[in-house]
Amino acid sequence: MLHHKEVGNWIENDIWVIPSYIPANITQDILNISILNQAASAISWNKVKLPVFKNFYSFFFFNSNKVDWFKYVWHKNYALRFSSFTWMVMLNGLKTADILIKRNIMVPSNCILCNNGYERHRHLFFECEFSFQIISKFVPNINFFMLRLNLMQILEFIWNSKWNKDDKNLYFLCICCSLYFIWKESNCRKMENKFSSQDSIYNHIRFKVQAKVFSWSSYPKIQHRII
Ligand SMILES: [Zn+2]
Repeated sequence: MLHHKEVGNWIENDIWVIPSYIPANITQDILNISILNQAASAISWNKVKLPVFKNFYSFFFFNSNKVDWFKYVWHKNYALRFSSFTWMVMLNGLKTADILIKRNIMVPSNCILCNNGYERHRHLFFECEFSFQIISKFVPNINFFMLRLNLMQILEFIWNSKWNKDDKNLYFLCICCSLYFIWKESNCRKMENKFSSQDSIYNHIRFKVQAKVFSWSSYPKIQHRII
C-alpha cells in the first residue's frame, strides 16, 4: 500500500497530515521529522527534476581543470576499476620507487619487472621491455616506431588512428586493464615474491578484457581482436 507514496504529499500548511492507514510506528517516525518551510534551508538540484549520479559528480568536479586526455581513460563502456587506476597513473599517483625515495622511504629502485630500469611511472608504462611486450600484444603496430612510445603516446596513437570507435574503445580498455595488472604484478613480486610470466599476465588481462566486452553491443565486431 505504501509503495510509490511520497511523504511530501502528507504535508498541509506546514504540518504533517498522515493518513490513518499508515501504521502507528511509521506515523511516529514521520512526525519526528521536522518540516523545513524555507526552500533555502534545504538542498535541491537547480533545474534538475530527476537528479542522477552524473549530476552529483558534475557538480562536485565543476571547478576542476579539464584535461584533454580524459577521453582516453573514460572511454565508452569503461571499466571503473581499471579507468580509475589509469587516472592515477596519468597523474603519477602510484607509490613507485622514485616517489617513495623522494619521501625518504628507502626501497629498491630497480624495476622488478625487467631488472633493467629505474622504477617510475615513465619506465613502467612503457619504457620497460617487460610491460611493453605485453601491451604490444594488445595494440597493433605500436612496436613499429623507431622510438619506444610512452603511455600518452600510445593513447594518442590509438585516438588518432583510422580504427573505428569500437576498436578504439577496446584498445583503451586493454591499456587500462594492462596498467592495473602490470602494477599488480610488480607488487606481487615485491611483497609476496610471486613471479608470473609475461604470457601468464597477458592471458589474465585478455581474460578480464573478454569478460568485460562480452556485454558490449559491439562484441560481435571486436571479438576477433582479442581471441
Ligand atoms: Zn622495467
